[in-house]
Parts: sequence; C-alpha cells; structure tokens
Amino acid sequence: MRGMEILFLGTGTSHGVPVISCQCSTCQSTDPKNKRLRTSVLITINGKNILIDTSIDFRQQCLAYNINRIDAILFTHHHVDHIFGLDEIRVFNKIQNQRIPCFAGPTTIKMLRHTFSYIFDYPEIPGGIPMLDLINVDKPFELFGSVIVPIEIMHGRLPIYAYRIGDFIYATDCSGIPEKSLALFQNAEILVLDCLRRRPHPTHYNLEQALDVVDKLHPAQTYFTHISHDLEHQEISQSLSENVQLAFDGLRIKL
Ligand SMILES: [Zn+2]
Ligand SMILES: [Zn+2]
Ligand SMILES: [Zn+2]
Repeated sequence: MRGMEILFLGTGTSHGVPVISCQCSTCQSTDPKNKRLRTSVLITINGKNILIDTSIDFRQQCLAYNINRIDAILFTHHHVDHIFGLDEIRVFNKIQNQRIPCFAGPTTIKMLRHTFSYIFDYPEIPGGIPMLDLINVDKPFELFGSVIVPIEIMHGRLPIYAYRIGDFIYATDCSGIPEKSLALFQNAEILVLDCLRRRPHPTHYNLEQALDVVDKLHPAQTYFTHISHDLEHQEISQSLSENVQLAFDGLRIKL
C-alpha cells in the first residue's frame, strides 16, 4: 500500500511507562524512548487519518503530534487502556462537523455500548457527547479506498482483532495467533506485534514468544509494542537484529 504513513502515538502497556511511583531504571531513565503512553497508532492513507484505538492518553497524543483530524477509528478490543480516550472525539466532531465511524468486532461494540452508556443510551442530549457510528465488522471492508482486514487473534482467552492494511499488520495485545488466521499474517512488509516483557504473561507475548512469532512469519520488518518497564529501550534494541526493533512513541514509518 503506497503512500501510507504510520505514527506510533503510544507504545506502552496499560500502566504506561514510567509507572506511577516506580523507581526502576527504565522508569527513572531520561531517554525519551523509555517514555511510553498507552498503545495506539495513527495511519494516514489517501489523505485520511485512521486511528487504531482511543487510548487513555489520546488527548495528550493529539496535542503532542498536532493531530487535527480523525476520519475513522478501528478498535482492537474493549480494554480500558485502548478505549478510555473516546470522549475526546467530541473535539473532532466539532472541527469536522460530522459523526465519526468506529469499526470493531461484535464483543468490542457490545462493551463500548456498555462502558459508554452515556454516549449510546442518551443520543438525544445535544453537545457534550461524542457523535459516533459503531460499525460491526467481521470480514474485510473498504475504507477510503483501502481494504481493511480484521484478523482474529487471541488475547489470553479473549478473541480480539489485529488489522491488516496492504502489507502492514497491527497486532497489539496478542498472546496467540489461531491457525485459521495465520494465512493473513503472511508476506507482511511491516508487522507491529505485542511484546510485553521478558517473563511470560497470560494475555500478552513476552519477548521470547514474540521473537518466535517473527521467526515463523518472517515479515520484512517488525516493531514490538505494548511494552512494559521491564524492557529498557537501549538495552533491548541492542540485543535485537535490525529488522526487529522496539517501537517508541513518535516513531513514524512510511510505506
Ligand atoms: Zn492493552
Ligand atoms: Zn518501572
Ligand atoms: Zn487488552
């Protein structure tokens, strides 16, 4: 997919890095690459801004990167770190004078309606709430001239979505790729993959597992995301090969 740009708005796990009150060397580091807001990316394609997830830090991310337009949102799943910035969409409704389409799987839509009942149960209250259209997707769909492919992945026991756009794949909060989804992970130019920490975790790949996945899928380039304070940027980056790197907040990639 030519002419596509990816901006990493956040690459941190649900606590963010630094973790509140933590004295570890990553949290105390002055390297900006060890400052990780909650995980999200902005994809610009055909002049449109597609946001993946509205992280808790969404407002701060918009201010940091001068984001002045959101044309659509893709949700991976309903966990708090990925959705709690949703209320900030009000600003974009106002700027653009339009509702914003949000694409997600059925469970995520159900949970968004539940968690944000003030948005969806009282739509007659004008102003004050985001104007959103929730659109249930379970197969590839076209958006602004590109095909978006939702891919089922496992986040512990919860099936959630990775998304593929052309040869770019975004798979955060992943601890397993079902057999039926493997074909959709083939021949990626860029794979963004969950990599939480060194120790195993029930709902996220650790470093060893994430590297095994890279070995199996051999994408041209991989960036790890959803990173905890266990992984110090410089130290881990030096131990990885050139085509596998830790993502960091503010990283921009062009395809
Ligand atoms: Zn998460
Ligand atoms: Zn720490
Ligand atoms: Zn999650």
